[in-house]
Amino acid sequence: MGHNFAMSKAVVSSLYDSEVFRMACRQFDQAADAINLPDTLRDRTKYPRRCLAVSLPIRRDDGSVTVFEGYRVQHNLSTGPSKGGVRFHEKVTLGEVAALSMWMSWKCSLVGLPYGGAKGGVIVNPRELSPTELEHLARRYMQELVGFVGPQLDIPAPDLGTNEQIMAWMMDTYSSHVGHITPAVVTGKPIALGGSQGRREATGVGVAYLVRKYLEDLSLPIEKATVAIQGFGNVGGEAALALTSMGARVVAISDYTGALYNAAGIDVKKALAYVQYAGVLKDFDGADPITNEELLELECTVLVPAALERVIHQDNAARLKCRVLAEAANGPTTNEADRILEARGDIEVIPDVLCNSGGVIVSYFEWLQNLQSYYWDKGEVLAKLTVMLDRAKDAVEYQKRKFKFSRRLAALTLGIERVAEAKQKRGLFP
Ligand code: NAD
Repeated sequence: MGHNFAMSKAVVSSLYDSEVFRMACRQFDQAADAINLPDTLRDRTKYPRRCLAVSLPIRRDDGSVTVFEGYRVQHNLSTGPSKGGVRFHEKVTLGEVAALSMWMSWKCSLVGLPYGGAKGGVIVNPRELSPTELEHLARRYMQELVGFVGPQLDIPAPDLGTNEQIMAWMMDTYSSHVGHITPAVVTGKPIALGGSQGRREATGVGVAYLVRKYLEDLSLPIEKATVAIQGFGNVGGEAALALTSMGARVVAISDYTGALYNAAGIDVKKALAYVQYAGVLKDFDGADPITNEELLELECTVLVPAALERVIHQDNAARLKCRVLAEAANGPTTNEADRILEARGDIEVIPDVLCNSGGVIVSYFEWLQNLQSYYWDKGEVLAKLTVMLDRAKDAVEYQKRKFKFSRRLAALTLGIERVAEAKQKRGLFP
């Protein structure tokens, strides 16, 4: 009986076993203990429902063929169709995708969306593919998923390394298979294909909105706040733009090529234009080069990790010098780092499941608009987004105060509790 997970009675294989999956499981265990989740519900709620692993042969521009490996993990289908992004990255593992699918379940449940959690990934460095090869890969991945995804089953979206264009190719591939256009099968599409106004900026705007709210709670004016952001892609770039427009000073940004620092403030619009043109931040002349590790330890009001998991760990957690840690990325803080930050008590953590939930909230709006073929303007989208973020924040703060939980534990217990309740009410198929 391959049983690797401490404290659990499940008989499970080690299929997902990895650092990041164990991290998500430890978070779950802690939350389940905190709310005394009955044994009969624990493992049902904790482990992913099912997964699909696919081989993706692609014809390269030079005539050769390369086979890529991809996954889709559906964590929970008890509360609605599952929802979650697709990641194209060279370090994707099945365990990482499984952990990300768990976090999607808690996030959707926390913010009150009628979805379970899912996630997908392909082991590939998308920068090494030509646009044609990337299109072949995106289409092949979706082709393998037809039957496993669908508007009432599982709805992919963009994540690290994927974008609107990739969603468009996936939607087109699915639609060709079923014989009619099916925009609701993916979200994060271009507007021309049924994408929602505001979806591209939703995650970053949501992060900035919550940062401002938490700064208000701390009586810190945003106009005096300095911000360091790791990752300058969809989420990091949009968060930088939104925070700048609220009056904050972005002093550091980074991507996989390195980080940049300018105490006087970085011209975010110029940096975004530079990345659009050069593809990377490297050699942008509006700031001085530093390392990604140095960025995390900068003195600043708000630190925003917006790239990969597990970047704040036991070796650097004690050295963070921010007042607010806004987790735009999923899983940026390890369990060990969490304990260090809690013991320090001087950093307000906005946990990932709350902080970056703006993305899936507007994905939900996009799906609703697709199903109704009735489209909203941007003002309506953003107004509805802030209502849902406010509600989720208030619920988390109430839970935190009531049970004297950390903010992460408050958010996770709320998310987990609702999934467990739905499973309990649905019953167990005999
Ligand atoms: P993206 O691919 O658009 O951007 C990722 C950025 O991170 C790029 O600038 C890339 O260069 C940088 N990066 C990659 N490796 C790095 C490294 N080792 N060090 C520093 N920077 C590095 O991806 P995204 O959609 O912005 O996603 C970023 C994070 O936000 C991920 O954790 C993702 O799961 C999470 N997230 C995304 C969404 C969404 O709507 N896209 C929603 C919720 C959460």
